[in-house]
Amino acid sequence: MSAWLEPFADELLSSWLERRRRGHPPPFDANFRAYQDAKGHWHHPDVHPQQAMIHAIAARYDAAPDKISHLALGFRYRKISDPFIAWHYFPPDYPVWGSIPQPTLRRAWCSRCLAEDFAADRTAYIRADWVVAALSFCPRHRWPLLDRCITCGSGNWTIKRATRGPPRMFCNNCHRSLERAHPKALEVEVVARPFWDKIAAFEAALRGALGEKVPNQFRFNNTSARQLLEETSEICLLLSRCHARLALRDLLFERFASPALTLSQDCYQDLPYEMPLALAEVPLRRCVLAICAAILDSSFETGNVWEEDGEPALDLLAQIASDSAVDRFVRDRRACSSTLERQVSAARQRNERRERIWQLRHAVKSLESLFRSTV
Ligand SMILES: [Zn+2]
Ligand SMILES: [Zn+2]
Repeated sequence: MSAWLEPFADELLSSWLERRRRGHPPPFDANFRAYQDAKGHWHHPDVHPQQAMIHAIAARYDAAPDKISHLALGFRYRKISDPFIAWHYFPPDYPVWGSIPQPTLRRAWCSRCLAEDFAADRTAYIRADWVVAALSFCPRHRWPLLDRCITCGSGNWTIKRATRGPPRMFCNNCHRSLERAHPKALEVEVVARPFWDKIAAFEAALRGALGEKVPNQFRFNNTSARQLLEETSEICLLLSRCHARLALRDLLFERFASPALTLSQDCYQDLPYEMPLALAEVPLRRCVLAICAAILDSSFETGNVWEEDGEPALDLLAQIASDSAVDRFVRDRRACSSTLERQVSAARQRNERRERIWQLRHAVKSLESLFRSTV
């Protein structure tokens, strides 16, 4: 068996099957789709392949079943769940009238990984980490992941044979290869690098937590892997569900949606209501993860990316989110660490002080104008 026919250690299961399919039509082709369990919940074979499928693949390609099951995302990351998998679409839990489309994975890519494949004269392949919604930077290169062609903006691509050399990833719309770096990323890298590194370091902690690794306690004091994941997930939900204070949420997003993170792509998508991290496009995902990092990671600093930092992100979140939702969350010790609970309480006190100062200033101004009008 040629080295290229073997799965790469960091490869997504479906990527390996697609590569094998080019030479040998597989018998299970039609079945490699999301499926529902007995309770009606959706799963994807790239995350949790069914045993029958693993054995069918093993028999077809003369490979050990263990080797195949180890490629599954659920094996690499034991704590991965739907909110941390990147989906194009995920059916809601409540019944929907009519037919429901199957969920499909949103697969991003790292242009530097693809460029390395090309330089090494190796076939392009999809890394398992490119479908993890907790990541917006390549963990290997700390380079922004992309989900749209930098030439035409299409999100539709395939890996196929090139005129010369091994297969490469091409845009289906403009037919350009996708290993070229984003020009905006190259332009902003010098200034944005320290900021990118902070977010990538936070994402590395999330990635570790997905693999059941306890977070670094200097940065995430008294926080378990489960709490770090739940806190991240909950902050995203609090942001997506604050319909009453949209102006404040926009203020927070404007601060983080800088070209250093969006690469000047439009964050035109609203933050999805259900599973915001999992369903957001990559530029929006990067902004949301930056907000989570600013709130949860004690080593996070924005550096000189913004001229003025303003209120801490946690103070803004405490104003944006509904008080009852925040109360419920911080009391749940399985989901929220005692550290974050204390920080939320401090943020609320700071917000109250700001509110009192604002009211005092307002009262002084009113008195001054009253005084002027009576003199
Ligand atoms: Zn990379
Ligand atoms: Zn294109």
